[in-house]
Amino acid sequence: MISRNPGIAHLKAGYLFPEIAKRRAAFAKEHPEAKIISLGVGNTTEPILPHINRGLMEAARRLGTVEGYSGYSDEGLESLRERISQVFYHGQFTPSEIFISDGAKCDIGRLQLLFGARTEVAVQDPSYPVYVDGSVLIGAAGPWSGTGYQGIRYLPCTAANGYFPDLSLLPEKGLFYFCSPNNPTGATATREQLGALVSAARQKGTLIVFDAAYSEYIRNSALPKSIFEIPEARTCAIEVNSFSKSAGFTGVRLGWTVVPQELTYGGGEKVNADWGRVCGTIFNGASNIAQGGGLAALEPEGLKEMRELTDFYLGNAKLIRSALQGLGISCVGGDESPYIWAHFPGRDSWEVFSEILERCQVVTTPGSGFGPAGQSFIRFSAFGHRPAVEEACERLSHLS
Ligand code: PLP
Repeated sequence: MISRNPGIAHLKAGYLFPEIAKRRAAFAKEHPEAKIISLGVGNTTEPILPHINRGLMEAARRLGTVEGYSGYSDEGLESLRERISQVFYHGQFTPSEIFISDGAKCDIGRLQLLFGARTEVAVQDPSYPVYVDGSVLIGAAGPWSGTGYQGIRYLPCTAANGYFPDLSLLPEKGLFYFCSPNNPTGATATREQLGALVSAARQKGTLIVFDAAYSEYIRNSALPKSIFEIPEARTCAIEVNSFSKSAGFTGVRLGWTVVPQELTYGGGEKVNADWGRVCGTIFNGASNIAQGGGLAALEPEGLKEMRELTDFYLGNAKLIRSALQGLGISCVGGDESPYIWAHFPGRDSWEVFSEILERCQVVTTPGSGFGPAGQSFIRFSAFGHRPAVEEACERLSHLS
């Protein structure tokens, strides 16, 4: 018979979230009376707001007309790419540098096709698991060895270094995934930090994949929302972003990736041209309906709605954070991001996860699932209906 991709065999049993779902289901089976509340996953819960929703409906309606029908959209509607450049990048990119996608995760998964299995991959530790799991699937890392994957360079981001990595640990001519605001810690890099990151990457010939999926949660106007606020990043970075967490499009699926024309490989070839080739080969463009919603989201009324939605989740984050702090639990995050990163010194993350599930019937995410430095931490997610979040906060008092 055909043999299995060793990358799949190297993946540690169970992606973090299916594992959490499995444990939640087992608890629910044992305790059918329990009213479990989830503060575990990064899935949005609130309805899409009216102006943006009308954009989606109008795009669907147009598809049913001769004059409004359109087929494959390839790299995306030009009008949407132009609007993204204006709204998020002060117009500094041409539409040819912005590729519309079906979401940031999907593009993160496809991006490593550009670099292949022999490129060294580094990540912030802790970080969104897809960077590492995607690297293992393509053969750039693996197998699992106790606390991490062989071949992945984990750059610790802890309280001791202000959640910003030691840049001397960046690989030479490798790939570095950097997420700000960070999932799971909520840490948001300053302009000086991003400047230092860009200089170090340029010096080492390393390419940064900057994940800005939570940029619309930034409220401190001094903090950069994009790596391209550092002009030199045009020669060393790709940025992925998404409407998932800002417009509630987790189920609609719409994102984008910026690949500047100046970005080249060591051999001088343009990364932009290759990304166009990858997308054209294995991706036929984002949904026209989703793009109609995206255009509406970037109109003034839509921008107001995105602000309202992200304000709502930040309100939840504030409640969770103060409930935890009230119990004397030390935590960070939640002010520029929908995640709170809580420390349980000396404890195993999965053990704390089980304790919170059993004593409070609240599902969380064990920090160790995000990398070795996540051990002894728990991530609380602010995605939830307000009454459920309030109830969960009350129940957390059972931990005292
Ligand atoms: N990047 C980060 C850091 C995330 O936390 C998530 C989702 O949780 C994504 C990307 C996925 O975004 P999308 O829904 O656009 O695929």
